[in-house]
Amino acid sequence: ATPTAVTVGIGRAAEYGILIKNGETLENAGNISVAAFDKTGTITEGKPVVDDIFIIDETESILKRNEVIKNTNGEWIVVDDPSVPGKPVNVEPLKNNAVNDVNIHRENESLKELNTEDIEKEVIKLLASLENNSNHPIAKAIVKKADELNINLESVNNFENVTGKGLKGEIFGKIVLAGNNSLLKDENIPDTENIVTYSNAQEKYNEFISQGKTTIFLVYDNHIKGIITLVDKIRDNSKRTIDELHKMNISTYMLTGDNEKTAKNVAESVGIDNVMANVLPNEKLDKVVEIQNQESFKQEKEGKLKKEIETIEGKIEGIKKNSKEVVFVGDGINDAPALSQANVGVALGSGTDIAMESGDIVLMEGNLENVVAAIQFSNKVMTRIK
Ligand code: ADP
Ligand code: MG
Repeated sequence: ATPTAVTVGIGRAAEYGILIKNGETLENAGNISVAAFDKTGTITEGKPVVDDIFIIDETESILKRNEVIKNTNGEWIVVDDPSVPGKPVNVEPLKNNAVNDVNIHRENESLKELNTEDIEKEVIKLLASLENNSNHPIAKAIVKKADELNINLESVNNFENVTGKGLKGEIFGKIVLAGNNSLLKDENIPDTENIVTYSNAQEKYNEFISQGKTTIFLVYDNHIKGIITLVDKIRDNSKRTIDELHKMNISTYMLTGDNEKTAKNVAESVGIDNVMANVLPNEKLDKVVEIQNQESFKQEKEGKLKKEIETIEGKIEGIKKNSKEVVFVGDGINDAPALSQANVGVALGSGTDIAMESGDIVLMEGNLENVVAAIQFSNKVMTRIK
């Protein structure tokens, strides 16, 4: 039979909107040493809005062989392969005075006559047309932006959703991509590491990610046409939750499909210790296993040491098994497998139905700080039983 303390504990927790599914969960939650969090919708509110629309000026990106341009490090370089405007080959700093002799040629001068607003609308049109086929929070934010700008959307052929990376399709018979660096890499589009020749795109990109923004590239017919950023507000109580966990000697992780710099920026602002970025939805489970293994390895070592000391002191009978567990907290979008792999899966109630099912604990009001309360409750109940 379930000890009374467990039943009472589960009942009391429920009054605070913390649904603990069974006694075993309560026991595990009382033994947590690591808390891993999903980023989007868990540490953040999960409601991104479009922030910047940065247009990559074609007139700046179309270069001629042997043209000399300044890269973002301020070095003068010679363009070797103008057919691939992202590829800085033969990067060879020149003496500054040599620059004066160089005639800078531009192809497509006529493009300059298109005004920026039109180009911006064109980029949003392509992007939103593609995003209109997805119901990712990023997609919803972009379609909303297009709507606000009264932009009509185009139909898309051969639409493909590349999970954790972005979208692909055909508009006006050309391939359109919207997504992150990893999508660009898969599609052999020279990524941001190599876009020095795209005017100041590299600089802008670095600026955006250092601000913790999610950055999406819009590629049309093999050319990066724009960088669009989205911001997702960090939940008011994220930092407090992390602080409380640290006080309880619980170490923290954040898992996300977003890029490393954006992820680190978010983690840093709430005080999370460890970041695992560029994690595809189906890899989140593996990452939880990785954390569990790291922890059990540490504990095994600690356990052995303890045992030796206790043997010397002749207190062998006093060895108590004190295993520690990993809690994973997610909103359930893409993270149901990780929720079930963790020793304790905590689903934020605002999440999807599947998360409510996979979570061992459900936080009804989507109140992140209740993670701390759930662990404290469990600790209390478990010490009472022992
Ligand atoms: P998270 O792990 O933060 O919840 P996802 O795994 O859903 O995020 O997505 C990871 C990354 O894939 C996003 O940060 C974005 O760069 C890209 N991505 C996903 N969906 C889209 C989309 N509809 N449009 C553009 N990019 C997308
Ligand atoms: Mg999420």
